[in-house]
Amino acid sequence: MIENLNPFAIAQAQLDEAAAVLQLDPSMHKFLREPLREFHFSIPVRMDDGQTETFRGFRVQYNDARGPSKGGVRFHPDETIDTVRALAAWMTWKTAVADLPLGGAKGGVICNPRELSNQELERLSRGYMRAIARFVGLTQDVPAPDVYTNPQIMAWMLDEYEVLVGHHEPGMITGKPQLLGGSAGRAAATAMGGIFAIREAARVVGLPLEDATCAIQGYGNVGSHAHRLAGDIYGLKVVAVSDEFGGIYNEHGINSEVIQNHIYKTGSLDGCPDCETLSNAELLELDVDILIPAAIENQITSRNAANVKARILAELANGPTTPRADKILFDKGTYLIPDFLCNAGGVTVSYFEMVQNAYQYRWDEKMVDQRLDRKMTTAFHAVHQMAQDNRVDNRVAAYLVAVAKVAEAVHLRGWV
Ligand code: NAD
Repeated sequence: MIENLNPFAIAQAQLDEAAAVLQLDPSMHKFLREPLREFHFSIPVRMDDGQTETFRGFRVQYNDARGPSKGGVRFHPDETIDTVRALAAWMTWKTAVADLPLGGAKGGVICNPRELSNQELERLSRGYMRAIARFVGLTQDVPAPDVYTNPQIMAWMLDEYEVLVGHHEPGMITGKPQLLGGSAGRAAATAMGGIFAIREAARVVGLPLEDATCAIQGYGNVGSHAHRLAGDIYGLKVVAVSDEFGGIYNEHGINSEVIQNHIYKTGSLDGCPDCETLSNAELLELDVDILIPAAIENQITSRNAANVKARILAELANGPTTPRADKILFDKGTYLIPDFLCNAGGVTVSYFEMVQNAYQYRWDEKMVDQRLDRKMTTAFHAVHQMAQDNRVDNRVAAYLVAVAKVAEAVHLRGWV
């Protein structure tokens, strides 16, 4: 049977499995399988050549029973409403597993930012915010960056929102530049949180981190920070990294500063000194201790899961592993740190950013990292313990922790 790679079908199947273990009330289960509300819209953008191009945009507010919904905005040529729904569902479970007083949302625009000029990108970002401004805000729904969006885009969106509402409201968006109220430590937060989770997983499986080998797929915000932090903090030896065009490999380890300089000069990983090339498929099957997918969905499937050799699979990307691959990995004893636990560092520091904005106060990076460590370590052990107690894999365990909390909030509100 062909594997269903629709991310929302996967998110629903994951929920179904957890609902069965939790013996969730059927009405609650039905309610939690679908987004609370979603917005689809057109964004007309005046292009540099004077023509108007129309882009399709989405915002899905999956569940806000535990607090204002929270989730990034992705600009991607292959964006679909089902990807946004899945990511919004995972945000709901992520904020619950990290115990943040927030719900889950996600946004997206079908576009290729690489083909847009800076001015076109600004007009698109402002257009997106105009389309959603009535439905977002500090107490409703708080956007943030995701794939192919960044702090500059958040700054344009914040400005557009504040022009529309006529007052400052920096906490309505996170991942913005620090000068406009962004948090210290936010840029590296997703990777940093993942590194804390890897440290705990390594303790559990008895893997010494010093000189342990690691491969990272994806070299954007998350992957590049993970590379730097893995080496700097724990002395991990990162032997391979990749981006959408392919990867590079050096069995003695790849220095993150050398790569950053190379990317700065050439714009790509290709031709990096002292490295061989390898494909993304080869990277995922390398004989390493730790594998970090940090790119996009559906990278580890029933086709290649049996060939994954890493002892720890740390999912910094959202949805990199399919349900069938999960079963294969569990049976062969791979220690999985599931996505909405492993990458919860980003939304955790986004939440810290909202708190700082509310108090008009700044924390330094050390304080942010310490608080993040506490949150990640607590969340990690809650999931690990749940897995042990119920003899389920860590993804199901993360769902058990998260779904129980969201269901209780829904119930307390009297919705179901
Ligand atoms: P990014 O846009 O900064 O980087 C994405 C990277 O993935 C790029 O290096 C790109 O070349 C690579 N890539 C794209 N398609 C690929 C493919 N088919 N094969 C291999 N590499 C590919 O995005 P990001 O913010 O680093 O996000 C990466 C992942 O982490 C996504 O799944 C995102 O949802 C997740 N995530 C991000 C954050 C955050 O704070 N940015 C938080 C939580 C989760």
